[in-house]
Amino acid sequence: MMAAQRTPETLIDRLPPGRGRLTENADLSKVTWFRVGGPAEVLFRPEDKDDLADFLRGTPADVPLTVMGVGSNLLVRDGGVEGVVIRLGREFARVEIDGTDVRAGAGAPDVNVALTCRDHGVGGLEFLRGIPGTIGGALRMNAGAYGREIKDVLVEAEAVDRSGNVHRVQAADLGLEYRKSAAPEDWIFTTALLRGTAEDKAVIAKRLAAVSEARSETQPVKSRTGGSTFKNPPGAKAWELIDAAGCRGLKRGGAMVSEQHCNFLINTGGATAADLEGLGEEVRRRVEQASGVVLDWEIKRIGRHAERKSEGAS
Ligand SMILES: Cc1cc2nc3c(=O)[nH]c(=O)nc-3n(C[C@H](O)[C@H](O)[C@H](O)COP(=O)(O)OP(=O)(O)OC[C@H]3O[C@@H](n4cnc5c(N)ncnc54)[C@H](O)[C@@H]3O)c2cc1C
Repeated sequence: MMAAQRTPETLIDRLPPGRGRLTENADLSKVTWFRVGGPAEVLFRPEDKDDLADFLRGTPADVPLTVMGVGSNLLVRDGGVEGVVIRLGREFARVEIDGTDVRAGAGAPDVNVALTCRDHGVGGLEFLRGIPGTIGGALRMNAGAYGREIKDVLVEAEAVDRSGNVHRVQAADLGLEYRKSAAPEDWIFTTALLRGTAEDKAVIAKRLAAVSEARSETQPVKSRTGGSTFKNPPGAKAWELIDAAGCRGLKRGGAMVSEQHCNFLINTGGATAADLEGLGEEVRRRVEQASGVVLDWEIKRIGRHAERKSEGAS
């Protein structure tokens, strides 16, 4: 008699079921701005904060966890992401206004926060209009534009850690600096309390229009991109160094340095993540050669490189 064959345990079998949605082998290229990248081994979309905390509590410690917003600052590598990728669901997208206080879920798009503030006469958050990410991504990256950053309007934030514990922290304790936060790596932000100032709605609307106009004039906002590729080095502008190194319009496979804003990389259609990352590294090499400055990636690169096919293999 033949012994019964045991099916090998897959990752999803080791995870708590949760109330939210668990998807195996989820294509991340559909949900990142660059439209490249391999699959998440498992994608989890929690229903709400309790669901997220329960899931984290019940997930074995050896399972890698990655949180993403809408992937506007992410380059997911072609080999995909090992472990669980968490994307916050609809329940995390709420924006509530109380006077000049704005309570925003970490899954709320920055643009929705800016527009809700306009509708309630809350000024000072117009800069969020031009940043295509979520509040969670803005907290992790200390996102900013036109001289303002999330740290300038943040009062406190709430996060859940890997063990499912909830933390409520004051803005000053998050170590927010230029495009980074000192919050522990395992923290998943769930809400932010932001504060603006009472202002005339028409004045806010004018500022929002100016932000939109400036964006489309200076950035390839309709392209498949990841925003600024490199951080501005102290006292310099990354785009100027890239331009001076002759990289404007440089190509690799389907990846290209934007002609419009040369700190933006673009997927012109058929780029792989390897094309984009390779092009970014080539830009860094040329900038260092031309100016001696080593550029630091602002875009977060996650996941595994695709396995190379061996030459001669059929
Ligand atoms: C056209 C374009 C223009 C842009 N302009 C600007 C700009 O002016 N200023 C600017 O600062 N950025 C800009 N960006 C970059 C990007 O929009 C921001 O960094 C944004 O804050 C990222 O948010 P996200 O939700 O897309 O995060 P993702 O790109 O999905 O993730 C970015 C990082 O945040 C982490 N993260 C996401 N959600 C959470 C969470 N809930 N808890 C903990 N960590 C989390 C991820 O793990 C990752 O490390 C631009 C991007 C594009 C494509």
